[in-house]
Amino acid sequence: MSTPLPDPVFQRICKQVDASGGDILGFLSRLVSFPTPTQNPEDKNYPDAIRACHAFLSEALKGMGFTLDTWMARPMSFPEHPVLVGTLKGSGGGHSMALNGHVDVVPAGDEGAWKHSPWGGEVTDGRLWGRGACDMKGGVAAMIQAVKAIRDCGLRLRGDVYVHVVSDEEVVGFGSRECAERAPRPDFVLVTEPTRLNVLPVEGGLEHVRIEIEGREEHAGRRYSSIYPREADRGHGVNAVEKGVQIVRALQDLERSWALSKSHPLLPAGFNTLLPGIFMSGPGGGSGGQLNMITNPGTTPNYCCIEYNIWYYPQETLDEIKRDVEGYVNAISRYDPYLKAHPPKFTWGLRNISFPPANTDPDHEVVNSLLSSLQRLGCPSQITGFNAASDLAWYAARGIPGAIFGPGDLACAHSPDEFVPVSDTLNVTKAIALALLSWCGYETYPPSPLPKGKGEQTCLTGR
Ligand SMILES: [Zn+2]
Repeated sequence: MSTPLPDPVFQRICKQVDASGGDILGFLSRLVSFPTPTQNPEDKNYPDAIRACHAFLSEALKGMGFTLDTWMARPMSFPEHPVLVGTLKGSGGGHSMALNGHVDVVPAGDEGAWKHSPWGGEVTDGRLWGRGACDMKGGVAAMIQAVKAIRDCGLRLRGDVYVHVVSDEEVVGFGSRECAERAPRPDFVLVTEPTRLNVLPVEGGLEHVRIEIEGREEHAGRRYSSIYPREADRGHGVNAVEKGVQIVRALQDLERSWALSKSHPLLPAGFNTLLPGIFMSGPGGGSGGQLNMITNPGTTPNYCCIEYNIWYYPQETLDEIKRDVEGYVNAISRYDPYLKAHPPKFTWGLRNISFPPANTDPDHEVVNSLLSSLQRLGCPSQITGFNAASDLAWYAARGIPGAIFGPGDLACAHSPDEFVPVSDTLNVTKAIALALLSWCGYETYPPSPLPKGKGEQTCLTGR
């Protein structure tokens, strides 16, 4: 029931955002000024900074008429990872939308490597600089300011708008999972991570799995007997390193067959990979991915652990992937009498890394609305897939359609002199506001004068 946006509404939103460009950048600068890195639990500034950031956002949302709900997400690197859920009730009869973003950032690293202060939020050369400007306080500012622009234009949405702000994304925390579970269910979610104005309705599934293999210890002096055993040598050692290598080779074959047999139009060919990332093996036994001791290679190793990073396509399910991987390893093991009798052990969702895929229809109304607004603004944009995992996954897991769309380029995230282009930030603010109007429906309430603005809208450049 989306309403095609008439030109005066489009122009009105654009003029409003341009007229309040200074305020929008001021809001973003302020957000950047809170030093909120979450990856170092020793960071003494974080608890105060996240509280201040939370208070700043709460104040802003309250001022716009949102009602707030807040709680602490499951502790991660810190005991305090506040979640902020704002609800702006619509007048009724429209679709709802959630806007999701994180305000935690990665550490600034070597501040000497920065030309701009990481916590300064300085605006020069058409860019706003600072840690988190791109990933993703820029997106958080744009999504909140989009709602403000609608209100400032004297328009009221029919559907409800929810703002979900979390503070544990950089430590793969639970904030967004809890939002998707606890907060009112939206009809669509936008995650405003940096996408260079592209619209990303799909992302692959991500899974970490550990495979453990047990061997049998034996003095290295008897290695020959395990290779060329005689009858008298039965019960010889079994090398867990070599059994592990067998499994790595087998999964390389599975990876190739995946690449040849599966695909998705919005993700690179061969995106579905099985990456052996950790290989830990040795004598003396082990468990949980750790060796009991590090000795020397004079004993046949009896423990091996391989940890994999697995990407799978949006149209696949984790159950299918588990069946494929375990089935392949078990099939190989059937031809190895030792492995047949001592099957490898699998631990899925290792360290809570188990992101379901997102597979929103690229032709979804909101995706189309974003694209057509960007086109109208003269901004080049395309529909593509996300090559990594985002908080969109937790909404997708509950069957909520959504997309990733935000200002800035992921390529400059997590690096010195991180920035977000000013033009991106304002264009994303406009596009989100227009998508909200189109998806949620709107009415004029109360009428207010048009802000003084420029003429026909064009894409602001300088990215
Ligand atoms: Zn991010």
